Amino acid sequence: MQNIRGQTILVTGGAGFIGSHIVDALVENNEVRILDNLSSGVASRIPDSATLFEGDIRDSDVVREATAGVDIIFHQAAVVSVSKSVKDPVMCHDVNSTATLRLLEAARSENARVVLASSAAIYGHPSTVPISEEEPASPTSPYGLQKHSLDRYAQLYNELYGVDTVVLRYFNVYGPRQTKGDYSGVITVFLEQALAGDPITVNGDGQQTRDFVFVDDVVQANLSAATTESVGEAYNIGTGNGITIGELAETIRDVTSSGSPIVHTDPRPGDIRYSCADTSSAQSNLGYVPRVSLDEGLERLLTYERSTRTDT
Ligand code: NAD
Repeated sequence: MQNIRGQTILVTGGAGFIGSHIVDALVENNEVRILDNLSSGVASRIPDSATLFEGDIRDSDVVREATAGVDIIFHQAAVVSVSKSVKDPVMCHDVNSTATLRLLEAARSENARVVLASSAAIYGHPSTVPISEEEPASPTSPYGLQKHSLDRYAQLYNELYGVDTVVLRYFNVYGPRQTKGDYSGVITVFLEQALAGDPITVNGDGQQTRDFVFVDDVVQANLSAATTESVGEAYNIGTGNGITIGELAETIRDVTSSGSPIVHTDPRPGDIRYSCADTSSAQSNLGYVPRVSLDEGLERLLTYERSTRTDT
């Protein structure tokens, strides 16, 4: 883990899944602020020593207040849903693209570094796997297009204004506290189904592949991005190992010792067939090495899920 100390840090979306883990890694040695509207984030996750600015990243007053005097911004807040972006592209654009642009402006005036959460969704249907950062962006949803615009704006802000920006293109992140929904949450959904003894529902033939990366590895990438000299770049953050959704369903049934049947539903329109990250650039420039195997990550998630069930 990188040693970041004595900094004033803003984590947008810091009450959410990934953001809250970034907060946990930083709060002991830094002044940490969180800007979150709690639309999917959870206030009780916020450590006492962090400061919550409860508000919307579309609100320029709260953004100004939260960014005053910051050294580093980890930008995680977003509408994280392909289907919502298809239903309401304009609202999602306001949050995912326009508000990000304002945040970059704030970083420019505060001389702050910004680490931004982009997504493998920008690649759409890639021509080859594993996917390198050179793969042309060809998003198949407003969400993917919005992440692409954020990704490009961040690189432009480095070129035009010298803002230290680093973009992390997350693949499928999983781990404790995950907000459920879309493919990013498929592990959490399968686990819930397996633990409840309900059918595990696989979309289509289950031969589609995804690269699942445990949240601790994503935190590690964020911390390295906050100190790297290789700014103005975008990096893939995955594991480099793809697994089919069918295999994932079987693995989850095994680790939970569940008797759930695996059932296949209609394929989701526009679903990407193959997705797996080439992480060599993150490895060379961020020293990023994913450490948590899928088996270990699933065990840790299962332990967490069981503990939350016992607690309630
Ligand atoms: P999440 O929904 O758990 O977290 C998002 C957080 O942003 C929540 O706390 C939510 O309340 C907050 N938020 C949403 N809209 C807001 C607004 N208008 N103003 C202020 N706060 C707002 O999602 P996550 O999985 O932790 O995702 C974090 C980031 O990672 C997002 O930018 C997402 O696009 C990106 N990402 C996630 C994955 C994944 O697999 N989880 C994959 C690729 C990219």
